[in-house]
Amino acid sequence: MFSSTYREARQRFLDTAAAQELAVDTRVLEGVDGLEGETLATDVVRIGPADAKRLLVLTSATHGVEGFCGSGAQIALMRDDVLPALMDKLGVAMLLVHAINPYGFSYLSRTTEGNVDLNRNSVDFAGPLPQNPGYAELHDLLIPATWPPDEANVAAIRAYIDMRGQWTYQQAVTTGQYTHAQGMFYGGAHTAWSTRTMRNLLAEYGEPCTAIGWIDIHTGLGPSGFGAKICVGDVQRARRWWGADVTSPSDGTSMSPGRCSIRCGRRVRMPRLHRSRSSTAPCRSRTCSTCCARMSGCAIIQTRRMRRRPTSAAGFALRSISTTISGAA
Ligand SMILES: [Zn+2]
Repeated sequence: MFSSTYREARQRFLDTAAAQELAVDTRVLEGVDGLEGETLATDVVRIGPADAKRLLVLTSATHGVEGFCGSGAQIALMRDDVLPALMDKLGVAMLLVHAINPYGFSYLSRTTEGNVDLNRNSVDFAGPLPQNPGYAELHDLLIPATWPPDEANVAAIRAYIDMRGQWTYQQAVTTGQYTHAQGMFYGGAHTAWSTRTMRNLLAEYGEPCTAIGWIDIHTGLGPSGFGAKICVGDVQRARRWWGADVTSPSDGTSMSPGRCSIRCGRRVRMPRLHRSRSSTAPCRSRTCSTCCARMSGCAIIQTRRMRRRPTSAAGFALRSISTTISGAA
């Protein structure tokens, strides 16, 4: 299910679609080859009832190098025997968008062929762009002329953090910037091919729909093997669909290492396993005890370390999707 290169992931996605007799809509990124000389493309499969008014979009590889997880989940979904009947019953279709950033997937890069971080590219380039003077101040230290950074470089970054604090440093680096095309978290100077492709797909496949949900699968945040749910947008609705442990940067609950994932930002020493009040299933929310009791109704807070068993990305996606379908219904 999981692949070790973009080329392999794409072939597996196409082979699985063919085996399931699913049509593939391919959008080729012209003018650039992959790391192994392969074609770079975003491949799209729609599954579910043809007349569905509700659409769940699943994208992989927005940050290219993170595409392996989402690709595996999408392939598993195409092979799933139970899902089609559920989607038919509830009138929900699914759009699997494989490798929206094929260049980054192939070259194991977060960014696109233009060094664009797609999560910072959906801005109005006709208007004034967001300013990030903090990044400009740090750029030469973050991308020094010599690599690896020398001791003076490391000391200068440390001094910045000591003086301004970790939070200010993190904001300056990661918020996004539109001034240094070779820099980190670069949002671009125009709408990237991947963003245009995604907009076209949403317009074409979403046009007949009255409701669209979107899970964009990334990796890297949260404890290993744990599906951390992050929402940018209507977090209240997202919590109704996916549960109280959906976090959001807009209300200060976005996942950051060592902090309560729900609301208060209190330090949580280790991931905890809670027993939900309403179900026998364990709640794996990485929260402090106060928030978990308040938001999730979890009654017992156990302090033993959550087992770091690798979670199948496909399993996580399936659980999320069945929650979404139920929530949408
Ligand atoms: Zn990411």
